[in-house]
Formats: sequence, structure tokens, C-alpha cells
Amino acid sequence: SKAIFLKQFPAGMPGESDFVEKEIEVPAPEPGEMLCRTVWMSVDPYMRGRMRPDVKSYIPPFTLDKPLEGGAVSEVVESNIEGYAPGDYVVDFLGGWKQYYVSKGERTQKVDPNMAPLSAYLGVLGMPGLTAWSGLTQILKPKEGETLFVSGAAGAVGSVVCQLGKAKGCRVIGSAGSKAKCDWLEKEAGVDVALNYKDYKNAGELTKALAEAAPKGVDCYFENVGGMHLEAALNCIALGGRMAWCGMIASYNNQEPEPGPPNLINVVGRGVMIRGFIVSEFMDKAMEFAMEVAPLLAQGKIKFNESVYDGLAKAPEAFIGLFKGENFGKAVVRVGPD
Ligand code: NDP
Repeated sequence: SKAIFLKQFPAGMPGESDFVEKEIEVPAPEPGEMLCRTVWMSVDPYMRGRMRPDVKSYIPPFTLDKPLEGGAVSEVVESNIEGYAPGDYVVDFLGGWKQYYVSKGERTQKVDPNMAPLSAYLGVLGMPGLTAWSGLTQILKPKEGETLFVSGAAGAVGSVVCQLGKAKGCRVIGSAGSKAKCDWLEKEAGVDVALNYKDYKNAGELTKALAEAAPKGVDCYFENVGGMHLEAALNCIALGGRMAWCGMIASYNNQEPEPGPPNLINVVGRGVMIRGFIVSEFMDKAMEFAMEVAPLLAQGKIKFNESVYDGLAKAPEAFIGLFKGENFGKAVVRVGPD
């Protein structure tokens, strides 16, 4: 069966030549194990952090001698684990970047193909959805009528934050990197103002546009991007504002540290609460998240986009596309037939 390995650790923006597809042997499942076939795999920005062998992080780096791994929806083919039968679909963190694998069923969750399309368990109903919901409801806690600014607003996490923010009665401003994404945010996701950050040359210009869109200031900022977005958010943050720092994708491919925003002092003067978080902190809330978001999805009150890449061989292209804004919503790779 096929699997994708790192050929070398990427320097700067990853390229397809950093990846290589190889044949691997998949052992027969022992007692307490099951054989799974990957149907969908996820590509996520955090994976770039695992491609730095020298950086200590909350998750260990990848190695060159093992296939890459990541979130996937898979079909159980053969099972020696009670409670799992052939034909069941599961989500886990092992199945990414490969066609077949053996699992012990740890950190594995069964999913219902009739409740939502299978790939949605990697996006709006999966890890990115839980991330969006956690940062918004557990950290920012916006009140009705408050202004919420979301960077990376058209992506897997950001698009859910925007729509949940609207459902909670906020004025929502989102930023994204193309006109098509901004049109979708305003027309489909119900965002009040969408800013195409590529129209602004620097933090000063983005600040001006954000200040116009948020005349009463930004009460809540959901940070996905960093850099000039953070600087603009700090310029417009309201008294008593809150920030949830979820990710800073603009810097993930940097080879040298970026000079920091010069206005961090606004956190002090404005009594801003800033709180970083990793979604794993809120795993015990997954049921509460699903109870709130799955009905909204079923009623069409939450919309989502997917960029589908066909075939395991497209996984590197899908991953690299995250850093170029090629994905519109959740990027997923169809590894096998549904
Ligand atoms: P997305 O679906 O949003 O895909 C990445 C998007 O980021 C691209 O489509 C692109 O959109 C934007 N982007 C890429 N490079 C830049 C850049 N240099 N400047 C501005 N925007 C850029 O990914 P996710 O929704 O999965 O992740 C969004 C953020 O959330 C990331 O920072 C990620 O690391 C973080 N995250 C954190 C988690 C946690 O537990 N803390 C869990 C999950 C995600 P555009 O066209 O708009 O530029």
C-alpha cells in the first residue's frame, strides 16, 4: 500500500520535492488491533510545525523514516477489537498520508456517515470546528452586540468562528486573501464586513479599514494569522477586549523570526485579556460542541466549503496550498472511494 514520507525537512515554504510516495507493507491486525482503509485525510497548518526537527512543541516532530500522519476518516476493513466491525467509519490521527494502516483503536472515534458527509468530520464537525467553538465560547465569550474580528476567516476554523459569532448576535468582521472568499463571507456566511487583506499594503492600511468596519472597536479578536493582522487588531481593540490566539499561519514558513508588532503595549493600556489555546485542552467538550453545532449544520445555519484534492499523491500539493491560500475552507484529500 502507498504512503507519503518527508524526503527532507522543508526550508521555508514547503515544496512538492520535500515529499515522496513509497510502498509500505501493512501487517495483518493482531488481537486488539484493526485494519483500516483511509477514505479522507486532512491537511492542517499545524503539520508545518512538525516538519521542524529541532523545535520543541506540544507535538513531536515527524521523522524521515516513517510515513507522515494526521487526521483521517477511515473504513474498518478487518477488526479484532470489540465494538468495531468491518464497514464502520472512524476518525483518528493515524490514517493521514497513507492508504492502509493498523490501529489499536486508541483516540479513535466512530462516525456516522448518515449524519454528515464523511469529510465534514475533518472540518466543521471535527478538530477545526471544535477549535472554532472552543476559542469563541470558552475563551472570547462574546456578548450580543459586540464586535468580533476573525483573521483567516474563510478557512476551516475561521469560517465556523464567523458563523457562530453571527448566531450569538455579534457584529462580525472577517479577513481573507481573495475577493471570492470575501464575497462568500458576506453573502453566504452572513459576515457584516469582509476585508481582503491583500488590498492593504501594511498594518496601517489594514487598521484604517478595520477601524471603519468596527466603529466601536473590536471587542473580541480570533487570531489565526498574526503579523499585520495582529498589529491592526491591537490598534482597534476596545477597552476590556479579549483575544483568543489560535494560530499565526503567516509566520509558519519563516526562516528568521519576524520583528514583533510594535503595539503590544495596547494590551496593557486597554486591559485586554489574551489567551492562547490548543484544541486538545477542550477535548472533553467535544459532545457539547457537537450538540450545538451539528443541528446548526443540519438546518443549513452553518455553511462550509471544502477544497477536495483527489488521490493520495495530491496530499503534498494540498498541504502546500494551505500556505498559499489555495484552499477555500477545509482542505481534504480523498484517499479512497467513500
Ligand atoms: P485554513 O483552512 O484557514 O487554511 C489556511 C489558510 O490560511 C489559507 O487558506 C490562507 O487563506 C491563510 N493563509 C496562509 N498563509 C497566510 C499568510 N501568510 N497570511 C495570511 N493568511 C494566510 O486552516 P485552518 O482553519 O485549519 O487553520 C487556521 C489557523 O488555526 C492556523 O493558524 C492554524 O495553525 C490554527 N489552528 C490552531 C489550532 C489550535 O488548537 N490552536 C487547531 C487548528 C488550527 P487566505 O486566502 O485567506 O490567505
